[in-house]
Amino acid sequence: MDKQPLPDTMLEAVRQFADPQVAHDFFVQLRWPHGVACPRMGCGSAAVAYMPKRRRWYCNECKQQFTAKLGTVFEDSPIGFDKWLPAFWLIASNRNGISSYEIARGLKVTQRTAWFMLHRIREAMQSDAFDMLTGTVEMDEAYIGGKHHNKSLAKRRELRERREARGMTNDPRDEKTAVFGMVERGGRVRAWKIPGDVSHKTLLPKMRDSIHHDATVYTDASNLYTHINEYFMTHSSVNHSIEEYVRGNVHTNNIECFWAVLKRTIGGTYIHVNPRHLDRYLSEQVYRFDERQNTDGPRFAKAVKGADGKRLTYKSLIAKA
Ligand SMILES: [Zn+2]
Repeated sequence: MDKQPLPDTMLEAVRQFADPQVAHDFFVQLRWPHGVACPRMGCGSAAVAYMPKRRRWYCNECKQQFTAKLGTVFEDSPIGFDKWLPAFWLIASNRNGISSYEIARGLKVTQRTAWFMLHRIREAMQSDAFDMLTGTVEMDEAYIGGKHHNKSLAKRRELRERREARGMTNDPRDEKTAVFGMVERGGRVRAWKIPGDVSHKTLLPKMRDSIHHDATVYTDASNLYTHINEYFMTHSSVNHSIEEYVRGNVHTNNIECFWAVLKRTIGGTYIHVNPRHLDRYLSEQVYRFDERQNTDGPRFAKAVKGADGKRLTYKSLIAKA
């Protein structure tokens, strides 16, 4: 295999990856920079023989064949790397994401295939870092998406019945999905869909698992954060309800900026986001934010490398929770 360069621009990427063989070899080099090893669970043998015509390897250890897609988000996908790699490029480099319709048109696949591809790419972008945020950390919650008219008739009926049971005519929880996020100033961001109630009790484990107790933590004055002084050395808040947004160094502008971009991406590009898939959309936004200092080429390559060791089947994607 010839050594494949990392493209710098969209134009170079499109030219380079138009050749399916080149695109395939590019992924192989990215996945196995120190030589191909059998990806089967528990094998990992380097005693493999390449069959170039079939783009497969034979493992002398477990006596089975494998492709470059085995054990990655590409497993079982009939789509070639000549389409997968440009799709990664597009989603990694567009600040507000890219819709399945645009992918479908641009890469000549069906919209359903494009939608599935995008979710697999988001899976690849999911970070598995467990290191804690340190320094100055801003924390905030937000409410995402879910306009009423986008919901199915059955869903609207279900929501109405639930509201009536609670004796309410309007319930903001019917409209939006709550998300929780934190950003390290000048550094990384973490964000999740809030499981269950938006309460101090639900959020506290996330805070304790994700932020070092020495960190300086800034929030708004919401009562979700009133008791966190017990866990962090320094906690200060700004009181938005009295029009206080910045007090010296104390503000939550960075996490609010992250929410603004997320809302623009979901509202403007993805339009309707099923709350069930929200964590994957968050991964996409978090990935671009964390890689914001990088140029397009390395940001693309890191996302593609993340495809290794992850899986997302269509069945599990469409399965009801
Ligand atoms: Zn093997």
